[in-house]
Amino acid sequence: MNQQCPSCQAPFTVEALSDSNVPFVFTCAHCKSRIYEMKATALLLIPTVGFVALMIFLSEYVRGILSPSIPFLENVPTGIVALVFLFPLYYFGQKALSNFLYKRGTFFAKKRAA
Ligand SMILES: [Zn+2]
Repeated sequence: MNQQCPSCQAPFTVEALSDSNVPFVFTCAHCKSRIYEMKATALLLIPTVGFVALMIFLSEYVRGILSPSIPFLENVPTGIVALVFLFPLYYFGQKALSNFLYKRGTFFAKKRAA
């Protein structure tokens, strides 16, 4: 089943959702409406927070393992460690969330002020 833009009925793909810079908000390629997802976003908020917490935990863990052999890691911010080591995890996690949202989500549009 394809999801449609609530404003202009143009179908959009799961890629439009996952390529967006803002989680759960994207712009319709057809009519430029901002499209929001409300229901599943609320549902996904807790797993998302858990996912981020897990990423931070894993980053600290990776740093703990590697810092004896790579001493400068001690001075690298956790965010950077997360970015380098956990980007694939983040990437697939984000894809999974987008897929879930696309299948289960209820979308709302807000017309862009011209
Ligand atoms: Zn549209």
